[in-house]
Amino acid sequence: MGILEVKNVNKRFGGLKALSEVNLSVAENSVHAIIGPNGAGKSTLLNVLVGKLIPDTGSVMFDGQSVLGRTPYEINQMGISRVFQTPEIFGDLTVMENMMIPCFARRDGSFELNALTGVSKQVDIREKAEQMLIDMNMIDKRHMHSASMSRGDKRRLEIGMCLAQEPRLLLLDEPTAGMARADTNNTIDLLKQIKAERDITIAIIEHDMHVVFSLAERITVLAQGTPLVEDVPAKIKGHPKVREAYLGE
Ligand code: ADP
Ligand code: MG
Repeated sequence: MGILEVKNVNKRFGGLKALSEVNLSVAENSVHAIIGPNGAGKSTLLNVLVGKLIPDTGSVMFDGQSVLGRTPYEINQMGISRVFQTPEIFGDLTVMENMMIPCFARRDGSFELNALTGVSKQVDIREKAEQMLIDMNMIDKRHMHSASMSRGDKRRLEIGMCLAQEPRLLLLDEPTAGMARADTNNTIDLLKQIKAERDITIAIIEHDMHVVFSLAERITVLAQGTPLVEDVPAKIKGHPKVREAYLGE
């Protein structure tokens, strides 16, 4: 049994079958990549996992508990944290202020924006945020305005903000999309470091094969809403079904 078990999930958007009989098992403490051409249903699947979309049929179990019927907030509290395709940090806040938000939310189990001013007085939250920034190699940037950072650093901060929630499963949707090669390689190194230092399972949706083959222990290939193949990277490379799925891209 994996920490995440998806069984026979179907999701339609009107006449379009975005997910069709999707089965997926993600082993605890592994890095599992979900790849596939544009429109394959990758983001739809991720949205089902975090409770943003409700599948028409099927089941999604996390650590033996169903996530279906729970709100995104409840699923997050269960230990699933998600990094979005575009950075979702508060550009007007400093790096440190951004990092304090999840540290505060984690401690109180609730989060109100207007509580932020009070947060700065809470030493333990400040310390935790500082520690996370040290872990992310970002402590030198703590006073920077988040909006003025590079795309790679924004993504680094955002991944750190997810980790501050102490998830057991980290979900990433194309974390290197739109990045220059140097930032992409930094992100790969960061994810490798996170994996080495923490008890965490990582499920990553990724278009960039360089990223996938650098990180993944198992790969599921999704095409037209259905898993085509699931295997170790060496078996996925050059797999005829995978080449076929990507033809015409
Ligand atoms: P991927 O992330 O693999 O590129 P998506 O999961 O975003 O693919 O989309 C799968 C299919 O579902 C696409 O054809 C897309 O146009 C469609 N789709 C996604 N979200 C919606 C939506 N909210 N309403 C209607 N169609 C959608
Ligand atoms: Mg997508």
